[in-house]
Amino acid sequence: MLKIIQAIRGMNDLLPDVLFAWRHVEQVLRDIVESYGYREIRTPIVESTALFQRSIGEVTDIVEKEMYTFEDRNGDSLTLRPEGTAGCVRAGIEHGLFYNQVQRLWYQGPLFRHERPQKGRYRQFNQFGVEAFGMPGPDIDAEMILMTARMWQKLGLSEHVTLQLNSLGDRESRKEYHEKLVAYLSKHHDQLDEDSQRRLHTNPLRVLDSKNPDMQSLIQNAPKLLDEIDAESRAHFDRVRFLLDQAEVSYVINPCLVRGLDYYSRTVFEWSTDCLGAQSAICGGGRFDYLVEQLGGHVAPAIGFAIGLERLIALLEHFHLIPVSDLVPDIYFALVGVEAEDKGLLLAEHLRDALPSVKILMNASNGSLKSQLKKADKSGATLALILGANEIEQEVIAVKFLREEKDQVVVSMDELISFLEKEFVN
Ligand code: AMP
Repeated sequence: MLKIIQAIRGMNDLLPDVLFAWRHVEQVLRDIVESYGYREIRTPIVESTALFQRSIGEVTDIVEKEMYTFEDRNGDSLTLRPEGTAGCVRAGIEHGLFYNQVQRLWYQGPLFRHERPQKGRYRQFNQFGVEAFGMPGPDIDAEMILMTARMWQKLGLSEHVTLQLNSLGDRESRKEYHEKLVAYLSKHHDQLDEDSQRRLHTNPLRVLDSKNPDMQSLIQNAPKLLDEIDAESRAHFDRVRFLLDQAEVSYVINPCLVRGLDYYSRTVFEWSTDCLGAQSAICGGGRFDYLVEQLGGHVAPAIGFAIGLERLIALLEHFHLIPVSDLVPDIYFALVGVEAEDKGLLLAEHLRDALPSVKILMNASNGSLKSQLKKADKSGATLALILGANEIEQEVIAVKFLREEKDQVVVSMDELISFLEKEFVN
């Protein structure tokens, strides 16, 4: 036997049994964002490495150690996208989508990060995300958060998720805070782990993101960016809070929520759950008012979020909130003998033309009647239609009721469509 080639660690196959749940969730999310006026965008999975370096930030976990970067045959450095926003912004600039107009966009697809795989953390994972451009006010922040709350409600998860909120202020207030934080952390240099010591001078805000238990009290006592933000950002944040309060969406202010990427400003938020273990964040987002400019476009304020679909689906499974697949056939078509096989294929096509909503599973590649009926039962179909030499001769078809205690009947070919219409269409 040849050695079996396996999938790459941290990259999962999604098999038919679970895909019904995926499609259901995707449909719910899509319907909601489209009802708020978001339109789909699809961008390539591969982009220039420079795009991510410039947007996410050189000194972030993603760019430093998690990107799948390779040289293509022309010697260009390419990267499998580790997040969705950068590509979306790049495409918007390239196609003039942000110039003097607002845009509400949504996307969905795989992302790639070379992290250590564990439950809820994969190297290829899927996000459903939205981005809104050209709207600087706090109302769009609130609308976006309400839209996520509506998603959890629709999926039955409202009770199991909590919202954390913070504001990172504008560029200037971040710069000032930066110095204060560096001074504080430098004073406690010996309490910083190796990663944080390195970040101290490159990206000190990320030290606040550390999950190292030994550093938590140091982090809790650090000066808070939220206390230092500029007056305009403060007013913006207060207004977001007011709008959420009015809509009765509860939240926790978390001054340590900085999110992993450099491009955020002002409002940032994260939805998490305590039912999935260590990987608890199911949705994260925030404003990125400078990113379009940073990538060479005209200034366009923006905000977005991304939902991790693997974690969302795991949460739904945890609470048994996944609907059962409806992809069972209505009819199993048993064909006995060569003549029936010849005629059966066309008859099935004819039935599909006449009854497009009826799902017909044709028995292929032969078998005894007994084995075909076994398959019919296993398929979950409601009826088995049986065509053999006798039926062909008499121009009838036999109908076996697979889920009811009813005797088998014989229906003439002329009446077959109206018989099936009565069974399935009304
Ligand atoms: P981020 O782009 O890091 O803000 O992530 C947004 C969401 O994507 C998170 O809240 C997670 O639900 C999900 N996510 C991020 N990284 C992973 C990963 N490695 N595996 C699975 N889901 C992830």
